[in-house]
Amino acid sequence: MKKLWSNLAEELVPYQPGEQTTNENIIKLNTNENPFPPSEHVINAIKTCNLESLSLYPDHDVTELKKELSNYHNVEKHNIFVGNGSDEILAFSWQAFWNPEDVIAFPEITYNFYKVYCDLYRVKSEMIPLTADFKINTAAILNDVKGIIFPNPNAPTGRFLPIIEIEEILKKHTNKVVIIDEAYIDFGGVSCIELINRYDNLLVIRTFSKSRSLAGLRIGYAVGDHHLIQALNTIRYSFNPYSVDYVGMKAAIASIQDDQTFRSNCQAIVEIRRATIQKLESLGCHVIPSMTNFILFSHPVLNGSIIYEKLKHKNILVRHFDTPKIQNYLRVSIGSETQMNAFISSLTELI
Ligand SMILES: *Cc1c(COP(=O)(O)O)cnc(C)c1O
Repeated sequence: MKKLWSNLAEELVPYQPGEQTTNENIIKLNTNENPFPPSEHVINAIKTCNLESLSLYPDHDVTELKKELSNYHNVEKHNIFVGNGSDEILAFSWQAFWNPEDVIAFPEITYNFYKVYCDLYRVKSEMIPLTADFKINTAAILNDVKGIIFPNPNAPTGRFLPIIEIEEILKKHTNKVVIIDEAYIDFGGVSCIELINRYDNLLVIRTFSKSRSLAGLRIGYAVGDHHLIQALNTIRYSFNPYSVDYVGMKAAIASIQDDQTFRSNCQAIVEIRRATIQKLESLGCHVIPSMTNFILFSHPVLNGSIIYEKLKHKNILVRHFDTPKIQNYLRVSIGSETQMNAFISSLTELI
């Protein structure tokens, strides 16, 4: 067929999501979803939504949720931006903060979407090297980049960078936007959100997808200086002011209000993680320290892609990345206790 699409559509290598399946026989530990369902409170909030009002556009300002989040984080409403998942906020950030041909820095091993946004928006990237044990080498960030972004804890390594090191970056790189993607912060890390009061170049991005069991509703938010939030709003209102729907907003509000379920689920995941790491280590696996709801590990003899295939054959899905330095590793999401026991016993059998 003759070419009816743009060069961009022809050349882009898009992000590859982990496999999704509705097959109930498959134990799905490949996309860092939460093993717990949304809380009763959240489900109730969805059930009691005024469904007749769905004929109306949702509140483009997402005011109610912003108010809830500003109380929760003790910041002003104008310090909050809400979007359709944090992926949308990341996409807006590239447009709001960087010009084509600008160079930004992110870790050599990190969330694969960052490279995709660079290609999409024609922004260039410099890799921040990791140490041999996968810690971000912050001292190696070049001075002349226009922006810095990484998840904290990093994905798919799971390693957490203490806030003090983030503050060092902010002090040293005052003339560029520094984005900290806190998708996994609720599993034992310490948030750097409070630093937004002292550093106007910091943007912290959060999601309801992982720790709040709402990946299916697509809610994310960012916290930062109101000038940064304003720039994001300009992009959002030039793209889709209604990207957050009414039902999603109501569910997100209920999730913030039900702090108890949220905390106890996160704690349960941290406990299952601890037990799983112990079992992996006793099987002789090399485990990267994790502050997330996943574990990156390798086996000294069996190759990562072989373990991946063998687990898949036993109906257990984990994630294998064809990325240099971690090709021999696998990332396993923390599922329920039952799921993790099945994972460990299958792994034991095949080892
Ligand atoms: C899962 C994930 C996201 C995307 O989250 P959504 O809110 O579901 O779009 C962003 N950043 C990192 C590092 C993630 O792992």
